[in-house]
Amino acid sequence: MKKLVLASNNAKKIKELNALLAPLGFEVIAQGQLGIPEAEEPYGTFIENALTKARHAARHSGLPALADDSGLCVRALGGAPGVISARYAGEPKSDARNNDKLLADLAGQSDRRAHFVSLIVLCRTADDPQPIISEGEWHGEILAAPRGAEGFGYDPLFYVPTECKTAAELDAATKNRLSHRGQAMQKLIERLPTL
Ligand code: IMP
Repeated sequence: MKKLVLASNNAKKIKELNALLAPLGFEVIAQGQLGIPEAEEPYGTFIENALTKARHAARHSGLPALADDSGLCVRALGGAPGVISARYAGEPKSDARNNDKLLADLAGQSDRRAHFVSLIVLCRTADDPQPIISEGEWHGEILAAPRGAEGFGYDPLFYVPTECKTAAELDAATKNRLSHRGQAMQKLIERLPTL
């Protein structure tokens, strides 16, 4: 098995990635397992943050490293909450308060278009001049009130017109197939054999 370090300690992400990548001969290890500290993510774009995290994990481990950065971009808010999606309503991070803030910011707004973005970067080495970059987008609209109990984050407010449901009303398999993260992962998997 080829080892890949994930620049995250999220157990759910590790499990999901291992299920996807084990059949391709990759074993995903959390950076925390190797004693690697989390990188700062101070940038204003998903790509800069994902690249910084992947490079950091590759440098500290000496192994190929994978990082992702994701969030929600709302048209009428100039792309906010964007890279600060997890902490839109400040610390400590709270999905409920983030959703309340989003609804307040969009009060009276008729343009409710929004999309989720997932940016995944794989650095073969810390100095890789051409990291593998994979991006997924999932387009929808922000409702005026939450619906559904599945998922996490902004899912209850994110209406998916093709399904006539919010992301929080979709079963996990459907969400994985349609979502920004699912799309970015599929594109990455297509490019892994070249690693
Ligand atoms: P992370 O980079 O994957 O930790 O995600 C950053 C933040 O973006 C999350 O804390 C959520 O607020 C939001 N987000 C990312 N993906 C999703 C999703 O699939 N559903 C709902 N919210 C999401």
